[in-house]
Amino acid sequence: MVFILNPDVAKEKVDEFVLGWEQKGFSTILSVGTEHTAVCLIGNTAGVDLDHVVETNDIVSYGKRITEQYKVVNRTVHEASTVIRVGDVTIGEGFFTVISGPCSVESNEQILEIAQSVKKSGAKILRGGAFKPRTSPYAFQGKQAEGLEMLRMAKKETGLPIVSEIMNQTQIDLFEDVDIVQVGARNMQNFDLLRAVGGIKKPVLLKRGLANTIEELLMSAEYIVAAGNPQVILCERGIRSFETMTRNTLDLSAVVLLKQKSHLPVIADPSHASGIRSLVPPLAKAILVVGADGLMVETHNNPAQALCDGAQSLDLAQFNTLMEELRERAVLEHKIM
Ligand code: PEP
Ligand code: MN
Repeated sequence: MVFILNPDVAKEKVDEFVLGWEQKGFSTILSVGTEHTAVCLIGNTAGVDLDHVVETNDIVSYGKRITEQYKVVNRTVHEASTVIRVGDVTIGEGFFTVISGPCSVESNEQILEIAQSVKKSGAKILRGGAFKPRTSPYAFQGKQAEGLEMLRMAKKETGLPIVSEIMNQTQIDLFEDVDIVQVGARNMQNFDLLRAVGGIKKPVLLKRGLANTIEELLMSAEYIVAAGNPQVILCERGIRSFETMTRNTLDLSAVVLLKQKSHLPVIADPSHASGIRSLVPPLAKAILVVGADGLMVETHNNPAQALCDGAQSLDLAQFNTLMEELRERAVLEHKIM
């Protein structure tokens, strides 16, 4: 159950209202949005007379029962779409924000060449994995802390904000200069990590697990927001299916449904979704057209030599062409790139 409060209610009144519910044995989540403040009750609300609460509390505008398990990420609680700002970059609010860069940061030269080129092509955020979750323990595991240092250097040189994947909560301090912390598909249900990134004051890019439902993704986002961090970006990155000709299957309907069910911004990743370079541009366009708030695309200055995910990486010229095509589409979709 959620109560939407009248605008401009004094904080003491809100605290008093919240305390009243807690004394009755409910847990509460206070969601302070730009449009309104909402108080969610967690617990068995079957015996709560919603109309009576609205009638007897002059700070309450209206109340609703929420049948879904996800509350604070639910659009019912927070009608207006969440907008995330990272420096000058906006995610949400009619923007189509492109994140690009290599799967893995490999060297200063590599990341700088890619960063400068993708920036020129119109990417707004630089990605680069430093800690890599690899299926094989013998595969390249990433440059780790040194990789984050290289990413930081590329940020300093280009001014692009950076996003990189965190693998566990002990790494949080290392991510101090990382603008967006990525929780990867394999960690989508690492609940300790979700709670930990719920305690930081920067955006979290939460990728959908390989075999997780849309509802499970929303519940993972709920962990982060309920722990106090409202800045979550959801990312559809393909799910496991019976299909073997692609690495994963891009679930475009998830992009649409997530936007309907949640107020959080939604982006998609056609690189991990397909695993095949030639599929990336058409899927990227589809992602724009279904209404995503952005895209994360892997690029490399020399895909044939990439230490990770070369087969799905666009080279820098291919990325530039894709960006030109996306800009034309964005006009038709009334999106700002
Ligand atoms: C990545 O973005 O580099 C990555 C490992 O993605 P995912 O977690 O979606 O597999
Ligand atoms: Mn990758």
